[in-house]
Parts: sequence; C-alpha cells; structure tokens
Amino acid sequence: MAKCSVHPGLASVGKVNGVEVCDQCNKQIAAAVKALDKHVEPKGCMVWYEGGKKGWQPIPGTGCAHWLAHDQGIKRGGKGEQCMLGYPFRVSTAVGGRKAVKLAEVKVGDFFVKPDQSHCGLVVKVTPDPKNPDHPTVIIRSDSSAQGKVADNDFDGYYSGKGSFVR
Ligand SMILES: [Zn+2]
Ligand SMILES: [Zn+2]
Repeated sequence: MAKCSVHPGLASVGKVNGVEVCDQCNKQIAAAVKALDKHVEPKGCMVWYEGGKKGWQPIPGTGCAHWLAHDQGIKRGGKGEQCMLGYPFRVSTAVGGRKAVKLAEVKVGDFFVKPDQSHCGLVVKVTPDPKNPDHPTVIIRSDSSAQGKVADNDFDGYYSGKGSFVR
C-alpha cells in the first residue's frame, strides 16, 4: 500500500500533482491552494511543504514567473525554487539563461522582464511602426498581481517603455 511521501508512517489517500499524500496532507494542500492570491494561475501546484507544524503552505510571492514557466514549459532551478510540478516561481530562475534582445528585434515568444526583475511576461504581439522602425508596439501577456489575472498590456503604455526583452 502506498505511503504518504511526507509521512512514511501514514497511508496515502492518493496522488496530488504526482505526489502520494496522506489525508492530512491532502487537506492541507487543498487549504493552501485556496489561500493563494486570486491572480495565481495555475493554482493547484503553487504550494509546498514547510515541515513540522506549518505543513503545506502557499508559496509566497506573485505568480508571474510561475505562470510563464508553465505556459512555456520551463523547468529550471532547484527543488526549493519550484512549484509542486517542478516549475520555477522566481523571475530570475524562470527567465535565466537567455540572451537580451533589442526592442527593434523583439518577436512574439520573447520574454519581458521589468528592470528590477519584479515582474515578467510573454510577448504575444509585435506591431511594426513604419515611421519608427526601431520602436514597434509590443503587447505583453503576464500573470499580474496588480490586475488580479492574466492580462495583456502594452510596453509603452502600461510599462512606460521600461524593461528588457530576452530570448
Ligand atoms: Zn502526509
Ligand atoms: Zn506550478
């Protein structure tokens, strides 16, 4: 009979995100998922085991990097910087290992990163400006705590033209 991956003395009641869990872990995971901020997508895996009395808790912070990592299938970093399904939730981990791209050369699929690395997103639309070839209009999709959802925003307007792009 399968055992809880956290409590080897207890029987598993099934798998959550591929992990065998006992009844207590199962309930704690459900509660932690419920406690996540509404903007976090996907929610079911953005929790981790903090041990002892704390048990399973929501992973603190915002969901931008986690959403981007899921959307783009990026699995990087160590266990301590990944959700239950192995996707990183820190901006530096999710966008790491990529090269900078100039605004004039940005393409759909490139990543956007705020100057202080507090937020990241995915370029979903690039519209060239014939009068200003080095400055296309760029639309960025991101999981935004400020907007409470996954939202599309323009680089020049919403982000005031501040931030960098990587590929
Ligand atoms: Zn357990
Ligand atoms: Zn996840």
